[in-house]
This record gives sequence, C-alpha cells and structure tokens, in this order.
Amino acid sequence: PAKPVFTGELPPGLQTISNIIAVSSCKGGVGKSTVAVNLAYTLAGMGARVGIFDADVYGPSLPTMVSPDNRLLEMNPEKRSIIPTEYLGVKLVSFGFAGQGRAIMRGPMVSGVIDQLLTTTEWGELDYLVIDMPPGTGDIQLTLCQVVPLTAAVIVTTPQKLAFIDVAKGVRMFSKLKVPCVAVVENMCHFDADGKRYYPFGRGSGSQVVQQFGIPHLFDLPIRPTLSASGDSGMPEVVADPLGEVAKTFQDLGVCV
Ligand code: ADP
Repeated sequence: PAKPVFTGELPPGLQTISNIIAVSSCKGGVGKSTVAVNLAYTLAGMGARVGIFDADVYGPSLPTMVSPDNRLLEMNPEKRSIIPTEYLGVKLVSFGFAGQGRAIMRGPMVSGVIDQLLTTTEWGELDYLVIDMPPGTGDIQLTLCQVVPLTAAVIVTTPQKLAFIDVAKGVRMFSKLKVPCVAVVENMCHFDADGKRYYPFGRGSGSQVVQQFGIPHLFDLPIRPTLSASGDSGMPEVVADPLGEVAKTFQDLGVCV
C-alpha cells in the first residue's frame, strides 16, 4: 500500500504499534463502533496483540460495548503517561474512561484531547491499534489522520443511496491522505423474518461504491438483535458467539486489514 501522508514526528507511544486501522463513517449511528469493537476482538481472537482507541469524544461508545473491571484510565505519574484499561486482553482507551462527563468542546479542543489521549498512552507492543474515528470528514478527522500514520481504513455505512454520497466523501478524505481504504462494511443490510429476507434500505449502493472507487472488499452485516444486545451488554458479539455468521464476516474482514 501507498505510504500514508504523515506530517509530524511519530509520537513515542505509537512507535511500538505495527498497524493502525481507522474505522470510519460519515454519519453517526451506522454501526461504526460496533464494527471497530468486533474487528478488534476478532483480530485478538486470531492471536494478535490489539488495542482500541475510541476517538469519538462527543459520544464514546466503548465504555458500553466492553466491560473492563477497571473503568478508569490510570496515569503513570513519572512518565506522565496514560495506562490503558483492558478487557479480555485488548487494551482500551476512551474519553469515556477518563472520568469526566460528556464533553462540551469546540473542534480544536477535541483535537487536542484526542491527540493527548492517543499520543501519551503507553500502548506497548501492539500488532493492531483499531481507531474508532469520530463520525464525519471534518477538521477533527483530518487532524487525527495527520497525527497518526494510518495503515488502512475501513468505512462503515448503511445501504441507502444517500449513504453512498457520504461514503464517497470518506473515501476521498482517505485517498487525499494516501491511506488505503481496504473495505466497506454495509451494515444493517437485511433481516430475516418468517422465512423471508428483507432489505429495508434497498440494495446495490455497496457494490456501486466498490466499483466506482476500486475498494477491494465489501462486507454485509445483517440487522440482528444479538448485535445490538451484545453492544449493550459489554460483550462483543464475536466473543459471545465465535462460531456465528457475524463472527465469520469479521474474520474475513480481519484477514483483509
Ligand atoms: P456508530 O458508532 O456509527 O454511532 P454504533 O455502532 O454505536 O454506531 O451503533 C448504533 C446502535 O445500533 C448501537 O446500539 C448498536 O448496538 C446498534 N447496531 C449497530 N449495528 C447493528 C446491527 N447490524 N444490528 C442490530 N443493531 C445494530
């Protein structure tokens, strides 16, 4: 893959990470955090050393989607660094573990907080850091991509035509930054009821994205009550049901990042 455009010096906390994967969406609520968390636990299940950085400062989902015993990040006072919390062997950093209320911040402050959380964390040796990006393609996202040398991006969307326009924006942002988009995940594609399959948001925009932008992989995720229940329970679906259909999809995604 092309070398990412990376403007700063590599922060020491990131020097021990082999691959940094951005999971991105252009709107909130499409399942970006669900994909980020399940991808991370799939990679861990394949034997990789994995961390998740929840960069969604306005609406951090990680504290709901995983249930570590220690729900507060600890500081190393000597090094003035942050020690991630951990759940089932995956290292976790989220603003939601910083012990503060919901943020009311302007863009530059948000970028500062993200920058600090990400670069002063003692991640240690990791094969993959999965970043749950803030939704959208604005300044916060751009700044983040400039602080961090991303290896690859995964874009999450829903199947509507409208979402296609958003995905195009995301693909353009990453291609400007020379970060390869390796996959699009079309979430909430279909559901099965009474022996029939329904496509509530229509079909076809995913394959249009793949054709138009030359993205190598497209994955479908169904609407599944277990996906939402596992998100709420703090146990990712791929951990709760490692042999299920969803886990299989994430293994295929895991191979292509
Ligand atoms: P985002 O990070 O894009 O805001 P989330 O991953 O937080 O989205 O998902 C929003 C909500 O939808 C969560 O409650 C999540 O559990 C639920 N959800 C996401 N994908 C699915 C799915 N395929 N089936 C059922 N519920 C889902």
